[in-house]
Amino acid sequence: MDLNTIEAVVPTTDPADWRDGDAWLAGGTVLFSYGAYAFGPRPLRRLLDLGRAGWPAVTVDDDGIELAATCTIAELYALPGSEPVAGRDWPGLELIRPCCDSFVASFKIWNLSTVGGNICTSLPAGPMTSLCAGLDGVATVIGADGAARTVPVAEFVTGDARNCLGPGELLRSIRIPAAALASKVAFRRLSLSNLGRSGALLIGRLGPRNDADGARGQLVLTVTASTRRPVQLRFPADAAPDADRLAAAVVQSIPAELYHDDQHGLPEWRRDMTLRLAEELRAELLGEHGPDGTFAVSGDFWECPDGTGRAHARSAQPTTQSSPRPNARPSAQPPTTQPIHRKEA
Ligand SMILES: Cc1cc2nc3c(=O)[nH]c(=O)nc-3n(C[C@H](O)[C@H](O)[C@H](O)COP(=O)(O)OP(=O)(O)OC[C@H]3O[C@@H](n4cnc5c(N)ncnc54)[C@H](O)[C@@H]3O)c2cc1C
Repeated sequence: MDLNTIEAVVPTTDPADWRDGDAWLAGGTVLFSYGAYAFGPRPLRRLLDLGRAGWPAVTVDDDGIELAATCTIAELYALPGSEPVAGRDWPGLELIRPCCDSFVASFKIWNLSTVGGNICTSLPAGPMTSLCAGLDGVATVIGADGAARTVPVAEFVTGDARNCLGPGELLRSIRIPAAALASKVAFRRLSLSNLGRSGALLIGRLGPRNDADGARGQLVLTVTASTRRPVQLRFPADAAPDADRLAAAVVQSIPAELYHDDQHGLPEWRRDMTLRLAEELRAELLGEHGPDGTFAVSGDFWECPDGTGRAHARSAQPTTQSSPRPNARPSAQPPTTQPIHRKEA
């Protein structure tokens, strides 16, 4: 923690209060670890604290889900299986827990860091960016004049630690539409090292069949972590690609320079993994292989503490300081595909 230039912490959600040298403070897991000089040419002077915003973390209605920017990872993790979504035919909810687990997070990240803070940090491996982009989430952004604008999350992040926010703009919420939640989904994640940061995180979605003619829904592939910003490929309803067409579309959509390059993976490896995982998603969603009724997850996560082998059956993190920490040793299984049953018992 190296924020010794801060002169004031101001509890506010009003972008009109923002001035040069300010930063919005959400969970603080980035702000308090990167230091005061990491966010621009001049050090931070004030933190505009969203901690007392009082925004409901999650709002569910027939049109979909609204996540407040201040929704914590722990609050989001609790959503599947909770009362507001009970009885809704939303397979897309199955993406929430693998995406939360993709932080491979500490107690601090799990309980303090927020959906909005993760998207605004805009790292390629931001799992909330992956989740919200993969489900066609739309961000609401508020400017200094109080006017709101909307941006698809897939376009919000524009590069490594870059996004579409202007000075002082506030990310208020993300709306996830029911149509995307009603899709069949599949998820793949790989990291170069055991329990490492995501090197590639791909989400696939297949829309429900058309009731009238039985035509297949739209296939949507969202590539994150391997690329500097999210890349989305959409294939029209009933025009799902075969393996060759998909590979060609990936190559065409992602130029070599768009693959991310850091200690978590070389661009060439990320490219190869993107092609491989994209094909796995395509084949799984179109039912070309993979056991029926299973939701395949690849990558390494915290070992499931209850010994069931189901990586996302419950929170991998304690929710109170006094709870014992689950075994935090590396998963024994290699980072390959492992089937996880769709319905929890
Ligand atoms: C050990 C460790 C592991 C981590 N692993 C990962 C990882 O795998 N992937 C990853 O992406 N990150 C990772 N992080 C980084 C970080 O913790 C997360 O990105 C986290 O989700 C940030 O959320 P926050 O609420 O704490 O943000 P904060 O620290 O509060 O804010 C982060 C940035 O976003 C801005 N901001 C926050 N909320 C808003 C808003 N509503 N509107 C406008 N601007 C806003 C802040 O001003 C600041 O610039 C890790 C960090 C640590 C310490």
